[in-house]
Amino acid sequence: MNLLLKSKQVPNWRKIQRNNFTQVNLLADFLQLSKENRDQLLSRPRFPLNLPLRLASKIEKNNLNDPILRQFVPLVDELKITPDFVSDPVQDQTFQKTNKILHKYNKRALIVTTSACAMNCRFCFRQNFPYETEEKKFDLDLEYIKENPTISEIILSGGDPLSLSNESLAELFSSLRDIDHIKRIRFHSRFPIGIPERIDPPFLDLLKNCSKQIFFIIHCNHPREIDADIASTLKKIQCLGIPVLNQSVLLKGVNDDEETLLELSVALVDIGVIPYYLHCLDPVQGAGHFALTEERARELIRYLQQNQSGYSVPRLVREVPGKPSKTFINH
Ligand SMILES: *Cc1c(COP(=O)(O)O)cnc(C)c1O
Ligand code: SF4
Repeated sequence: MNLLLKSKQVPNWRKIQRNNFTQVNLLADFLQLSKENRDQLLSRPRFPLNLPLRLASKIEKNNLNDPILRQFVPLVDELKITPDFVSDPVQDQTFQKTNKILHKYNKRALIVTTSACAMNCRFCFRQNFPYETEEKKFDLDLEYIKENPTISEIILSGGDPLSLSNESLAELFSSLRDIDHIKRIRFHSRFPIGIPERIDPPFLDLLKNCSKQIFFIIHCNHPREIDADIASTLKKIQCLGIPVLNQSVLLKGVNDDEETLLELSVALVDIGVIPYYLHCLDPVQGAGHFALTEERARELIRYLQQNQSGYSVPRLVREVPGKPSKTFINH
């Protein structure tokens, strides 16, 4: 009886998620955009607007150059056709082994757990991925993993794996527990940045009781995305002996200057989060306005290297389809 009642309760984070901005005009009002600035917004973008209130509140009013606005708010810039920018820049589909598994690199396989994200980033390379949304079970995917003993790590990605309920994650964890050759589980999630409330006590219990080593990779591109709630949330994960790392994408108009990138690294290491990768933009259609030259990227990373501890410097990488790993860019 009690259990039945409990299962009907909507978790707090889902209620918070319902306050995400999904309509461009409502967000434009909230941001107090002038008529002129409003005209720069795409009212009905192909890849929908989805922005948590926490992040929207960090955007400076009536400023189209705000680094958080540029990451999440659809602008007419997206309509520009950029040569060589394509629909699936990283050729995910070539490596799709089941509906949900991408097995591209040795030793690790990635599960696209869900199409749902905590937020929609305008530069997302997976914005055109034909997600399997009907099938909620992981049976075929687990079968593939069982049959491939070379795989020692499972990456839970998406979409965002934390869009799944704790119950679904618990089920997945329990199946993975029985596969001996799986030693590590890695989360790739942007929830801690948009809706840190997602890291609720039942989820923390799940992490705590998992028999495999967990790694937690967040995605943060600008120091202003981090706040005290987020820091204390990540601390709860770190207290379980789980390393927390960050990956960023280098984006023109967001974080393409020396001081911002340095501040980002410092903000991360000050809360014990290790900068893992700084990705060059994947050339996905509609994201041409975020592109930088590789020379500029090298210059920026050299600056980071000369101004802080070695562990604070992310690895500058690019995804080159067909290569057996991310490609490191020397600097
Ligand atoms: C980036 C990526 C990984 C992870 O690569 P690491 O270098 O181990 O972080 C795994 N699978 C796919 C399909 C990827 O795109
Ligand atoms: S959180 Fe990740 S998967 Fe989701 S839209 Fe942003 S970049 Fe894409």
